[in-house]
Amino acid sequence: MSWTRKILRVNLSEGSCTSEPLNMEWAAKYLGQRGLASKYLSEEVDPKCDPLGPDNKFIMATGPLTGTMASTAGRYSCITKGPLTGAIACSNSGGFFGAELKFAGWDMIIFEGKSDKPVYLLIQDDKAELRDASHMWGKTAWETDDIIHATHQDPQMRIACIGRTAENGCLYAAVINDRHRAAGRSGVGTVMASKNLKAVAVRGTQGVSNVEDANGFMQATADGKAVLAENAVTGQGLPAFGTQVLMNVINGVGGLPARNMRDVGFEGAEHISAEAMAEPRKSDGKPNLTTNGACFGCTIACGRISTVDPTHFSVKDKPQYQGASGGLEYEAAWALGADTGVDDLDALTYVNFLCNEDGMDPITYGATVAAAMEMFEDGVITTKETGGIELTFGNAEAFVAITEAMCNGGTFSEDLGLGSKRLTEKYGRPELSMTVKGQEFPAYDPRGIQGIGLNYATSNRGACHLRGYTIASEVLGIPVKTEMNDTDGKPELVKAFQDATALVDSAGLCIFTTFAWGMDNIAPQIDAACEGDWSVENCLEAGERIWNMERLFNEAAGFTADDDKLPKRLLEEAIKDGPTKGQVNRLGEMLPKYYEVRGWTPDGKITDETRQRLSL
Ligand code: SF4
Repeated sequence: MSWTRKILRVNLSEGSCTSEPLNMEWAAKYLGQRGLASKYLSEEVDPKCDPLGPDNKFIMATGPLTGTMASTAGRYSCITKGPLTGAIACSNSGGFFGAELKFAGWDMIIFEGKSDKPVYLLIQDDKAELRDASHMWGKTAWETDDIIHATHQDPQMRIACIGRTAENGCLYAAVINDRHRAAGRSGVGTVMASKNLKAVAVRGTQGVSNVEDANGFMQATADGKAVLAENAVTGQGLPAFGTQVLMNVINGVGGLPARNMRDVGFEGAEHISAEAMAEPRKSDGKPNLTTNGACFGCTIACGRISTVDPTHFSVKDKPQYQGASGGLEYEAAWALGADTGVDDLDALTYVNFLCNEDGMDPITYGATVAAAMEMFEDGVITTKETGGIELTFGNAEAFVAITEAMCNGGTFSEDLGLGSKRLTEKYGRPELSMTVKGQEFPAYDPRGIQGIGLNYATSNRGACHLRGYTIASEVLGIPVKTEMNDTDGKPELVKAFQDATALVDSAGLCIFTTFAWGMDNIAPQIDAACEGDWSVENCLEAGERIWNMERLFNEAAGFTADDDKLPKRLLEEAIKDGPTKGQVNRLGEMLPKYYEVRGWTPDGKITDETRQRLSL
């Protein structure tokens, strides 16, 4: 069965922790993690509630494969109504926390209400209790991790927590686990802060021993690992270069946005690429990249561990930042780098450290600074607002200074904490926010690559590549190559990627496996681990059901087809030069067909027939 069949319900208002059985009828339809927790959220939370009020709930959920011997099975997700978007939010993370939660015997933790003082949840196998966290409030995520480890003297305790940006009300604060792994998007950390919940510390000793068909599972996971090892992307590219392998590739095909998506193509891309990270530097002969790293049970090991040049201006007087820590992944390198026009690898690595240390989503943060930079260059904001900082594109010193101010709650941090939608509205330039449903874009320009634009526009959590990574097909040719600028066939492609991703996220696996695995590699692993029939067809149907359920939550929260849109810049301002010169995104050619293949009405509503077909 693989599920532990147990939920921990924590009522923060009452200070109580209770165990209850997992709803196995729902598990049979929604599998686990993203799907199953979204079902609980949909049933228990009013979609119109204030995301930062006590009526919202915050769920940490594992999948049935989390903690097992399947490759990459260390994932957990944070599910809630997101404060950045007002839509359903689901943000997943690797590291070791998710597996430890499963080893302690829990599929899911549901937090409800609000504590009247800062607390942390301590879980030691079956025992769970809330402890005072007053002494941790105002501390960074790294300090919090240190304090909890020092208190409990258990190096194997795994901690997920928030930093100062969440406490300060930043609407895109992350939950940081294992010091540099993040459930980063949509402000899930801000919801934790709104509940006065500083951290969750967990230690489990029970393992996961209850898979349905042990021999079949061993065979299916061994087969899956062999496929990952033999594949050029998961066996060689990702371990050696990480996701940063994409920087020069995406720039080369004309898909890398720059300077708040005003431009496409970044002249500094190679300075912040995977290749640059491996280059020995002059000062100490060492490269930025110290080593790669792996999350629990992962045989890909795409993680980056980096050091900043100790002579660099950002850290030369700060020995605490001269050691190795979580390095740049592609999305962070793009948002912090190309989107702000900054091509100083050490400055970006330092800013990335700060994002981890104080818990914020580097994509939304970088893109929000980029929008602020464009307003600064247009004279809409000045040094009066920024506290004297010349916030121009490409200014590494300014970027470092504004980030330190952001983490310390200094000048302009409240504005930057709003995210680009509210920030640009505040200063009368809403057209400069590069967002869908209030969430900032990741690192692929939808003018150059059509399908990803449709995926962004229809994503249930706002602009996001991880809801349907059509870049695999449109740029990399996985599983089949589709033309970047074609719109024909893209609605079907987007739907297929979105549904498959929903299933992978619900299993407890990392989406990067899908560079090599198709559903015919994934379904046998789930089928052997879980009771019930998890054939390829049933897995895909579960993914589609999950996607539609999330859409229903958003509909009830007030979202309509009007929210399935892209900023005017991406629809009307053609790319100025490079391989994709002259292109805009042609969303209007794709959206009606997308609604049709989804079985929705022409105005994007889920039909009764589709609801019945998916048993919603
Ligand atoms: S592929 Fe990378 S992100 Fe995914 S589980 Fe492995 S190390 Fe973690």
